[in-house]
Order: sequence, then structure tokens, then C-alpha cells
Amino acid sequence: MRGLMMDMPLSIPALLRRAESVHPHKAIVSRLVDRSVMRTTYAETLDGARRLAAALRALGVQPGDRVATFCWNHVPHLHAYYGIPASGAILHTLNIRLHAEELAYIVTHADDAVIIVDKVLWPVFEPVRARIGHRRIIVISDDHDIPPGTLHYGDLLAAQDDAPPFEDMDEHTGAVLCYTSGTTGRSKGVLYSHRALVLHSFAEALPDMLDLAEASRVLAVVPMFHANAWGLPFACALVGATQILPGPYLDAASIVSLLESERVTHTAGVPTIAHALLAHLDQHPGHDLSALRLMLVGGAAMPETTIRAFDDRHGVKVIHAWGMTETAPLGTISRVPSELADAPADEQYAWRATQGRPGPFVEVRARAEDGALVPWDDQAMGELEVRGPWVASAYYPGDDAPDRWTDDGWFRTGDIVTIEKTGRLTIHDRAKDLVKSGGEWISTVTLEAVLLEHEAIAEVVVIAVPHERWGERPLALVVATPGCRPTLPDVRQHLDGRVARWWYPDAVEVVDSLPRTGVGKYQKHRLREIYRDYFEESAPQ
Ligand code: ADP
Repeated sequence: MRGLMMDMPLSIPALLRRAESVHPHKAIVSRLVDRSVMRTTYAETLDGARRLAAALRALGVQPGDRVATFCWNHVPHLHAYYGIPASGAILHTLNIRLHAEELAYIVTHADDAVIIVDKVLWPVFEPVRARIGHRRIIVISDDHDIPPGTLHYGDLLAAQDDAPPFEDMDEHTGAVLCYTSGTTGRSKGVLYSHRALVLHSFAEALPDMLDLAEASRVLAVVPMFHANAWGLPFACALVGATQILPGPYLDAASIVSLLESERVTHTAGVPTIAHALLAHLDQHPGHDLSALRLMLVGGAAMPETTIRAFDDRHGVKVIHAWGMTETAPLGTISRVPSELADAPADEQYAWRATQGRPGPFVEVRARAEDGALVPWDDQAMGELEVRGPWVASAYYPGDDAPDRWTDDGWFRTGDIVTIEKTGRLTIHDRAKDLVKSGGEWISTVTLEAVLLEHEAIAEVVVIAVPHERWGERPLALVVATPGCRPTLPDVRQHLDGRVARWWYPDAVEVVDSLPRTGVGKYQKHRLREIYRDYFEESAPQ
């Protein structure tokens, strides 16, 4: 039809062009390997991104080719985030914490043409290299002492003095490829289009989402290889926010010192990180975090006790969000609506501990085991299905697990939820982690949140274990707080009046530590394997 708007693509290059011309002077701050803090600007970072794009083209990288990164969060990784999609190639972020076998599978599956590797990570990468055949490897290194047969990152960029400006491309081309972190099975590829990332950035920046603005100072503790760094590098570039990158130092002391010294306003990470920060702040009081406006926590359930503890003890506002690699990742966010502004604190905390309501353009529904959609009554449980412009329509390259999508194109998340009348989700479990006892579901997420309130429990995972009479029963695996040893009677007493009696774990096993995935989630499937025979021949309790 004539007389409509211009058909300008929603592409990463267009977003970057604005960043270059409107806020080139804004700061990007990064901790280096030697722990010093380096300051640069968007202008310099985007110059690096254009140089990288030109260098890749000079190496023969074609539009659509995959260029992988094996890096911490730092400025060259930002070059890759911006420069690779802007060159028409696809940025593929590799999870440095996966096993070499899994990484080799992912590199081969994605058929990465080039891999950019941090020199400090070379010992981790070397066993992967041995398994992936010949691929071009670029090493980011301060010196020229790099492994034979690899290219030097700095040299490649230095040779590109005439790197061309960022040019538009079709918004429906692939920009970033990210594999799921494999918490519940083999990793699968998710390919984000330019359009999806641009729209995700707009939504993420909204006041009732992350509330990002030019004046924001953002430190993503989430690794840049986990779910697209939660979209933050793109959303920050869109609004002109200052970015603070932690380099290889993700321990609580290093993060807290950056939060304080850089007057960070927004930070983001998984609950494991949040718990580590809380423990550090409790043990080392006196930090000035007055600039910090919000800590986004997602990737696993954030217990209400921890949200309260941050408020009460440190004046830090935790915002709980739900998302998946398949949803780019922001799906829902828990912002207390204005009509509850004067509600009792308990009611507000109860809201904040849920996963919240979907962002714009994200649609949700849930389906019961009988195949019917569940009502939005906050009671009926079902598997969450989502759709939206930044929700995957297939796994890359298109033939993996098609059963994850319904016939009418919604994505089956595998998460079991209830939905409240205004669309607020509560995640009760992953379908694979639920305990199915006597035909009824027990939410391990709820049990864990309540158990964590017990002072003798530092960490807890509840898993389903096969049981002769009930099919499955819950087993609580507990890391005790120093000097304590929680017992089954303690735990049962603690649960009295809080959850139904038939939900009580049948046993409590105190362990030294609990295994985690590369992005810090508990490896429940591994624990289920280890404790598979735990209740064998045990009588029902
Ligand atoms: P993986 O599936 O390998 O863990 P993702 O990082 O994509 O990879 O994880 C997405 C899953 O994490 C969701 O399906 C959900 O089970 C869980 N999750 C994400 N955010 C939350 C949250 N706020 N509360 C509970 N679970 C969450």
C-alpha cells in the first residue's frame, strides 16, 4: 500500500550507527586479567567492532557463516557482539564452562568457521580444538606469544584502518546463535534474528521492564555466553547506557567492589550469583551500594527470603524475571502493579517472588496434562507455552525437536506454571523435575524455597526419586550451614503448616556440595541419576 512509513530494517547495524553518532563518548569500563580497570568509550568499542567485521571479511567469512567466541565479559567480546552480526555473519557464543566433548559437539553442529578465544582460556579450549577438525582460531592476547597456527586478534584489527561503516541488512537474517545451557539434556541451538534482538532491546529498556536509560550504569554478571547476555549489550547500546564488564572475575568480592566503585545502577545474574553477593555483603558490611537501583535475577527461581534479605539488610531491590535461551531471553518480569503500591509488605513480597507478567508482545498460556488450556485462576497447573517476536520458531538449523512447538506455532517451555488473572506466572517446576507422587504433582521449587528459610540449610535441592508405592517421592539434598546438621525431623517440623504433609521429603541427605551447570544452575538430572535407587525397598512413610 502507498503512503505508509519507510521500510527501514530493524537491524543491529542501524542500532549501532545511532550509538556511534549520538553517544560515542559514553563509557565502557572493563576489568582486565591483571585486575586493573580499563576505561574506553562506545566510539572506540564500535571502531573495534567495525575493524573486526572488516577483518573477518578479509579472512573470507561470508554472510551467514558462524563466528564463535570463547571469552569472558570484556571489550573484545563486545566487539564480537556488535561487529560479527554487523558483518552479516552470525555471532555464536560458546559456554566456556561446558565439557570439551559437549563443546566439540556444539562447534561441529554449528559448523563454526572461526573461533575467537581468550588466551587465558586456552588451556580450557585446547582439548576442544583437538576434537573439531581444522577451523580458523583467533586468540585475544596482550602479547604475541600465541599457540602455533592461530591468528593474533590485535594484529588483525590493527590492519583494518579503512573499515567501512555499519550497513543495514535484512532484519530477518540471523545475528546471534546461542545453545541452551543443557540443564536438562543435550544443548540445542537458538538463532536470534536482527529484528528479534532489536525488539527485545526496546522491550527490555522499558520502565516496567529493566528501566534502562542513557544515565544507567549496567554491570551484567551474567556471562556473555549465557542466553545472549540477557540482551544487555544490545539494550545498553540502544539507550546509550554505560557498560561495566567484570572480565574473568565473577567472585562476589570483585563484583561488589565494581558495583561500589563504578556506581552501578543495574546489575543482573542468576540466583547463585545473588546468593554469593548476599553472603559477601552480610560478612563485609559497610559497602556503599546507594547507586544500585535494581538487581535483575532470573534463570532459576529466586526465593522470597532472599529478595527480602537484600531489601532489609542492604537496601538492594531484587527484580525477579523468567526467561529461556529460546526466548532471547526475557519473557516475564515481576513488577508489583501500582494498585498494590499500598498493599501490606507480605503481599508485595509474595508478588515479587513470582515470575511476574509477560513483557509486551510475549504471549503466554498453559496446558494441562489432558491437553486443555488451564484457566488463569492462579490454581490450575499446566505446561507453559509462549509465543512472541523474540521466541524461537525452531532449533537451529531447523530439524531438532520439532515437538517442542505446538501445531499452531507456540513454544512448549517444559515449565509447569499457574497463571493469575492478569497473566502473572508462578513457575512450580520444570516438567522433568516435578515429583509425581501417587499421580499428584509436588513442586520441588516451592519445597526448596521453604527449606531455604531453615537456618541450618545453606543450599538445598529437592529431587524426585523412584518409589515403589508412590511412583516417586521427594528427597532433599542439603548443604548445611557451618556447624549445623539438619535432620529429617527438623525439616518436617519446619515444613509444618507451610506445605501439605504429603509433600514432605521422605529423606534428607546432607552433602558437601551440589553439582552445578556451566551457568550456575543445579544439575538435577545428574543428581536424579546418582540417587536413583535411594528409596529402593524402602517402606512408604
Ligand atoms: P537450560 O534450560 O539449559 O537451563 P536456560 O538458561 O535457557 O537453559 O534455562 C531456561 C529455564 O530456566 C526455564 O525453562 C526455567 O525452567 C528456568 N528459569 C528461568 N528463569 C526462572 C525463574 N525466574 N524461576 C524459575 N525458573 C526459571
